[in-house]
Amino acid sequence: MISVDDYRAQVTELLGRRPAVSVPVQDCAGLVLAEDVTASVSLPPFDNSAMDGYAVRSDEVAGASEDAPVQLRVGEDIPAGRVDVPPLPPGTAHRIMTGAPMPDGADAVVMVERTDGGRDTVRVYAESASGTHVRRAGEDVARGTVALTAGTVCGPAQLGLASAVGRDTLAVHTPPRVLVVSTGTELVLPPEPLEHGQIYESNSIMLAAALRSLGCTVTTVRSVADDVDSFRAAIEPALPDVDLVVTSGGVSAGAYEVVKDTLTGAGVTFTKVAMQPGGPQGHGTWDGVPVVTLPGNPVSVLVSFEAFLRPAILSSLGHDDVDRTRVRARLLETLSSPSGKRQFRRGFYSRTDGDVTGVVGPRGGPGSHLLAAFTQANCLIVLGEDVTEAAQGSEVDVLLF
Ligand code: AMP
Ligand code: MG
Repeated sequence: MISVDDYRAQVTELLGRRPAVSVPVQDCAGLVLAEDVTASVSLPPFDNSAMDGYAVRSDEVAGASEDAPVQLRVGEDIPAGRVDVPPLPPGTAHRIMTGAPMPDGADAVVMVERTDGGRDTVRVYAESASGTHVRRAGEDVARGTVALTAGTVCGPAQLGLASAVGRDTLAVHTPPRVLVVSTGTELVLPPEPLEHGQIYESNSIMLAAALRSLGCTVTTVRSVADDVDSFRAAIEPALPDVDLVVTSGGVSAGAYEVVKDTLTGAGVTFTKVAMQPGGPQGHGTWDGVPVVTLPGNPVSVLVSFEAFLRPAILSSLGHDDVDRTRVRARLLETLSSPSGKRQFRRGFYSRTDGDVTGVVGPRGGPGSHLLAAFTQANCLIVLGEDVTEAAQGSEVDVLLF
């Protein structure tokens, strides 16, 4: 048996780091930068007005008040986007809008609310010290400096900044194309009626949803019979067009283990991981394409995704932080766990105001077929390899979804 941590490291190594690709900025949300973004312009690119009002010489409005307004000639209108801004002659104010370039000679803006709003002449009711309501060129980002560093996750603010400094594409690590394959002669696709002994296929739906939540492009083969030739025929033609294959089922110790029978000795290693659920696992390559083979029980599939695939894929995309948020919580019930294995139980975590630790209760038992309980859970309860019983009231680790 191999430990959860060692197996996770192996799967992470198998997936490696996705190549850096140039992608339009608008398609980069959630992706990780593979390059430093150097600002080709300063932000703001030029001194500009922070208010709608009048660009003035601050010494000419010194001492202005409601009782003693200063009257100035109104020169030009400078709306945002005007590129031929004339300088400000003495004794004059230019009507200026937010974001418009400051004229030479002006060093302050008086907001329109502090004036009579005049068009030919304007009465200014308040003084405005030098620099007031002026946004200086480069005060946000200086041209030539690194605005965003490689490894940054591109959220809305980061993508906004990349655009603001003039980028239309970014080098990012793009998510893999994944082929999801469900094996099992018993599997039937809804809405076909079931015969006794058959079940509806659900693993590919779960895995596709989980993988897409990481940005992966997913294709599925939803039902392959437990027969080596059928399995080969279903997968091999698709291999050239995918970056990763994820299978479910057919990796345990019984007979008719189609994934194991096909891929043992053909680039994939099958192991038992010291965990419950999700013990039987396999990983390797098939015609050069990374393959991760998961057990068939639905809860094992999702727990395996959480334990191995999610962190490995996030790492391949350049994320440093690949873990779910881990918190401590007091158990609401006593739980037992197999010796020597890390147990992942479905749980519901909650925290009331002032309760820094929070509490967690199990949802369903340890059985790896109990999918309905999973839908009630908002976390996994982690019971360590050395734990055989965790008493009610004791603190455990919880991984929040
Ligand atoms: P296996 O690992 O192939 O022995 O499958 C273990 C259990 O998971 C069996 O009860 C299967 O019927 C069930 N199972 C396997 N694949 C799927 C699937 N794609 N959808 C739903 N249940 C499945
Ligand atoms: Mg099976």
